[in-house]
Amino acid sequence: MHEWTIAMSVISSVEKWSIEKNMNVKRIYLSIPSFSMLEVEILLDAFNKLKKESKICDAELEVRVRDQKFGCRNCKNIFTIDDIKPQLDPIMKDHDDYELHELSSLLTTFVKCPKCESRDFEVDASIRVEGLEV
Ligand SMILES: [Zn+2]
Repeated sequence: MHEWTIAMSVISSVEKWSIEKNMNVKRIYLSIPSFSMLEVEILLDAFNKLKKESKICDAELEVRVRDQKFGCRNCKNIFTIDDIKPQLDPIMKDHDDYELHELSSLLTTFVKCPKCESRDFEVDASIRVEGLEV
């Protein structure tokens, strides 16, 4: 259901922009982090259904899944999934049935900053419109 909420908020903010600027939006570039737990197909489906009742009914949504970034609060190191892959691999092996995104809640339990080994890090979870084509 989360996908529908996001599709709705993307549509209403882009619709508002489109009316203010008096421009027709053809394409929306949306960026989501790889650990967002969002299903891109559901998101697209939600968008395509909801847009019909909006003023941007011709707009196409393009979703880019970006590499998840983590920021260490202790040493300010920014690291990615690739950087913690050696730490994740043993967990993945033990949890064959898990999709990677389901492990997000386990991350802070298992993962340490690759630089200073602190467990105090933040996850870049923002979902943002990165561009519009008019
Ligand atoms: Zn660190």
